[in-house]
Amino acid sequence: MAAITHPLHSLTLPSKTPTPSSKTFTKFTKFTIKATSTKNKPISGRRLTAAVIGGGPAGSSAAEALASGGVETYLFERSPTGAKPCGGAIPLCMLDEFSIPPHLIDRKVTHMKIISPSNLTVDFGKTLKSHEYISMVRREVLDSYLRSRAESKGVTLVKALVTNLDVPTSPNHPYVITYTANNRIKYLPVDVVVGADGANSRVAKSIHAGEYACAIAFQERIKLPDDKMSYYENLAEMYVGDDVSPDFYGWVFPKCDHVAVGTGTVCSKPNIKGFQRAIRSRVSPKIAGGTVIKVEAHPIPEHPRPIRVRGRVALVGDAAGYVTKCSGEGIYFAAKSGRMCGEAIVKASEGGQMMIGEEDLKREYLKQWDSKYKMTFRFLDLLQHVFYGSNAAREALVELCGDEYVQRMTFESYLYKKLAQGNGWEDFKMVSSTIGSLIRCKIVGREMESFDPNVLAKFV
Ligand SMILES: Cc1cc2nc3c(=O)[nH]c(=O)nc-3n(C[C@H](O)[C@H](O)[C@H](O)COP(=O)(O)OP(=O)(O)OC[C@H]3O[C@@H](n4cnc5c(N)ncnc54)[C@H](O)[C@@H]3O)c2cc1C
Repeated sequence: MAAITHPLHSLTLPSKTPTPSSKTFTKFTKFTIKATSTKNKPISGRRLTAAVIGGGPAGSSAAEALASGGVETYLFERSPTGAKPCGGAIPLCMLDEFSIPPHLIDRKVTHMKIISPSNLTVDFGKTLKSHEYISMVRREVLDSYLRSRAESKGVTLVKALVTNLDVPTSPNHPYVITYTANNRIKYLPVDVVVGADGANSRVAKSIHAGEYACAIAFQERIKLPDDKMSYYENLAEMYVGDDVSPDFYGWVFPKCDHVAVGTGTVCSKPNIKGFQRAIRSRVSPKIAGGTVIKVEAHPIPEHPRPIRVRGRVALVGDAAGYVTKCSGEGIYFAAKSGRMCGEAIVKASEGGQMMIGEEDLKREYLKQWDSKYKMTFRFLDLLQHVFYGSNAAREALVELCGDEYVQRMTFESYLYKKLAQGNGWEDFKMVSSTIGSLIRCKIVGREMESFDPNVLAKFV
């Protein structure tokens, strides 16, 4: 969701490939794949061909890695001028890791307030160093930049809606992408497919990847009078409470010339508009005189899909379900999973010269991803259970956020996406004060009973 760093997010624990065709697909004899599942075979006279469906951060990053590594790559995006509904907060490490130029950043957030149900307010950013900030971007700007960069690396961008993915019944045949461009139905046979088509992924449906629970996030873009906007110059706010969301938080994020005010929920979707009214009411003095310029809503996956690789198809980003609980962060994980998947295909295909199979995708992509991030996702899931369950727990959360050590660990983990270097004694104090806050708010005991013991066991 509108992810910004989250309190306690302190663990990171044919001789040539055919071009898209408007002819009806009949038979692709030249695409016969000679590989078996155990030993990959060379592709002669052409390169491995990949279709990446979806040109968000996940798709562009996958396509860029594929093309840079020698794979013939087609990137499909249905709406190249559209803007994905999103808070647009990205961590500092993403700027370097994905070479995001500074002019793409609208705002640098250096202050953050977290506000409890009783309106206890904590400044949650006191430990940020002078060069540290959370970048706020507009998705239309970021996404189009990443797509153009992928194109410059040799990706063919296809501005079209993908309407179907034909899955071959034999491992020796291609996948066939059906898409609509300029009111014409076209087809493209490919060896490998990367599904980066977001939370409502058509690719996931085509490979029967299974469902995941989704939250709904609702957001209004509000243009403020200058004096009100200056308050949010470099400040983001998080509001917690049953009124704004029974299981998430409400936010005010500064954008280029307006603020995004929103909230989300999994367990009470029909009431999302009521929660939105509540967040607006809590921030009302600060947004008085503002004009709503856009209203948007979108699903957010709650956990990874049961299947993320099937055959020669891999899911990345939201299509795979890579959004963290608690904070609702997904942009970095989308770009990262896209790149990891692209690089995995390049590696397994030896630069586009060999056919690949399901085992390659599982070994080179899924296994690497899970070993890097599975625990982080589980940990944030656990925190959401503890701290978003009731108003008393939310009061405990905000109280805890006043602790500078908690703040430093949280920001380091969020900004750099790696395990913050802790200090044994401070860690002990942090655990003690967490338990202290929970006891004061009468949470310990009651909430602990609702934990999945298998999840808890991983952390003790
Ligand atoms: C309201 C809201 C606020 C959020 N705030 C934040 C935040 O502040 N920070 C953060 O890190 N995360 C945030 N998220 C989550 C973040 O937006 C997603 O995790 C991220 O966009 C996932 O990127 P993606 O590339 O996987 O998918 P998407 O960004 O959803 O991109 C999918 C792309 O595929 C295209 N597409 C889909 N189907 C087809 C098709 N059939 N044919 C062709 N193209 C297709 C779409 O047009 C789209 O461009 C927020 C989400 C919401 C809803």
